[in-house]
Amino acid sequence: MPWSFQIARAFGIPIRLHVTFLLLLGWIAFAGISRGDLTQTLVALGLFTCVVAHELGHSVVAQRYGVHVVDITLLPIGGVARMAAVPKDPHQEFWISIAGPLVNFALAPLFMILHQIVEPASGGLPWMAVLASPGWVLLKLAMLNLSLGLFNLIPAFPMDGGRILRALLAQRMPYERATRYATGLGQFLAFLLALVGLLLQSSPMLVFVALFIFIGAGEEGVRVQTHAVIEGAAVREAMVTTYVTLRRGDTLNTAVELLLAGAQQDFPVVEGDDVVGVLTRRRLLEVLSHQGNDRYVSEVMEPAPEPVGPEEPLEDVMDQFGPGGVGVIPVVGPDGLCGLLTKENAVEFILVRAALRRNQERTAA
Ligand SMILES: [Zn+2]
Repeated sequence: MPWSFQIARAFGIPIRLHVTFLLLLGWIAFAGISRGDLTQTLVALGLFTCVVAHELGHSVVAQRYGVHVVDITLLPIGGVARMAAVPKDPHQEFWISIAGPLVNFALAPLFMILHQIVEPASGGLPWMAVLASPGWVLLKLAMLNLSLGLFNLIPAFPMDGGRILRALLAQRMPYERATRYATGLGQFLAFLLALVGLLLQSSPMLVFVALFIFIGAGEEGVRVQTHAVIEGAAVREAMVTTYVTLRRGDTLNTAVELLLAGAQQDFPVVEGDDVVGVLTRRRLLEVLSHQGNDRYVSEVMEPAPEPVGPEEPLEDVMDQFGPGGVGVIPVVGPDGLCGLLTKENAVEFILVRAALRRNQERTAA
């Protein structure tokens, strides 16, 4: 994630802070210092530590199921644990999802006990000047953990409760239908929440949360539908088979001519049967604006992404097209380069399959 940096490591997982999060914390601290009271700052720090513990709960269980956890990033809205792939096994999804709230439910009584110990002992300590009461901070943290755990159990994506509900449903029905029910219920709850926020409480915060849930539920529905559509498809079916290639010794002028002559945006650079690099449109324009068009392709090309085989499942390859990912993947068969997999073409393939699927469902109904 851009604009974030690592502050710690736990269970082998990098913990990162986003810059906006630091700004928020700085703002709370500044407000505290100017009031001469650091209670709120301490509560905020404690709360964000608990949010990290919540994400670690998900991550450690995921790791136990062999899921690679990339990192945990703290944002002003909460924590995000990035995982390689969400398991489709309902049993695993259930335990990974419930582990986060369970951490908060375990922390709440822990803070209560600490509160009981600290409260009577901390009567007249000298640092009371900048802190209302350490006991109050602990009590507050106990309450916050309780609300954090409960809030995440709301049965709506993208909350943990949405995943838990889907996992429970998916034990009795196909994964896709379970997702549809779970996202449907999520959006219905979001709608109710927004109504309450608008009519009864006139609370903009509640409406904001409702909107967040509504959009999150929709996104999860689309993600699962996309996966269902490309399930079972091979790379071969979605790859571009009409394309042109560049050679190391070509000049950028040649690349410009090819770019303008057709719809292709990214060009593999080949030598014999091997793909030795790629020249993407982004890279080409970047070099043109800085160095002109008389450079050689070999000087400015980028290393080619790891090639994939034509029979590999498309589903396994699609993740590489994510944000900040590659734009083109060479497809190499026994006789060398046989196609290109591009993001644009993969999206077109998904749209075509989804359209055919809708037709199938319509004729079956
Ligand atoms: Zn969670």
